[in-house]
Amino acid sequence: MKILRTIADVRAAVREARSDGRTVGLVPTMGAFHDGHLSLMRRAREQNDLVVVSLFVNPTQFGANEDLGAYPRDEARDAALAEAEGVDILFAPPASEIYPDGFATNIHVAGLTDVLDGAARGPHHFDGVATVVTKLFGIVRPDVAYFGQKDAQQVLVVRRVVRDLDLDVRIEACPIVREADGLAMSSRNVYLDADARAQATALNRALDAAASVFEAGERDGDGILSAAGRVLADAGITPEYLELRDAMTLEPVARVEGDALLAVAAHVGAARLIDNHLLSAPKDA
Ligand code: AMP
Repeated sequence: MKILRTIADVRAAVREARSDGRTVGLVPTMGAFHDGHLSLMRRAREQNDLVVVSLFVNPTQFGANEDLGAYPRDEARDAALAEAEGVDILFAPPASEIYPDGFATNIHVAGLTDVLDGAARGPHHFDGVATVVTKLFGIVRPDVAYFGQKDAQQVLVVRRVVRDLDLDVRIEACPIVREADGLAMSSRNVYLDADARAQATALNRALDAAASVFEAGERDGDGILSAAGRVLADAGITPEYLELRDAMTLEPVARVEGDALLAVAAHVGAARLIDNHLLSAPKDA
């Protein structure tokens, strides 16, 4: 595996692969790898000749009061894990390579970013994501890019950028990888002390409780949300949001009739965590 720092070096490596007719898969990450990241790399490895993983803690998607400075960073460990997954190129640029002096462009996806994490974290968050992902697509020009369903709204935002800007890349969303007790894997789980780690399991238990009432026939949004809300309350968690939204448009859903995204965000101990489940009802149910 090569570790590359410059756009020019990545372009040269990808150009060489392409001229041999090889396909290129890209996994964008901010590092601190866990099995969620590795699952994306595995999928990319299965489907492509050349696998590029980007490792860049993107400053523009963090708010002033967020955890940019504290975000876990261990490039040597990440490089070893990526190499063990058969990754070909780890692109780990300095911030100045991505945002040189004079950088002035911002990609804003209207509508989809007004809700959930866009509302909770502010517009800079998805603007930062959309802009850096578009740059990565321009640098690597992958055939396929892999994202985790853990960040369901991010997947929708990236798909919209690709559609609206006619980018020639297929977006593949991969399932959420969880710890044995159901906690969604996240680089931010390292912020949890033992008590908060135990408390954090309530997020997925809450979503499971909602999914259970849904599977038992509940279609009313408030009924579904209150099943989840009770589990959070019992665990002493006040969610930042707990919402049911259309899985494609993120419009609010009062009654589940198609695919709905049940999404939660909460501060637990020192971490801000997010999780989600998809609820799918047949349209004529
Ligand atoms: P991050 O490094 O947190 O920006 O994540 C990089 C990619 O890994 C994103 O597409 C995430 O959605 C994905 N990812 C993070 N956690 C998980 C998880 N538990 N399961 C699946 N994918 C994940």
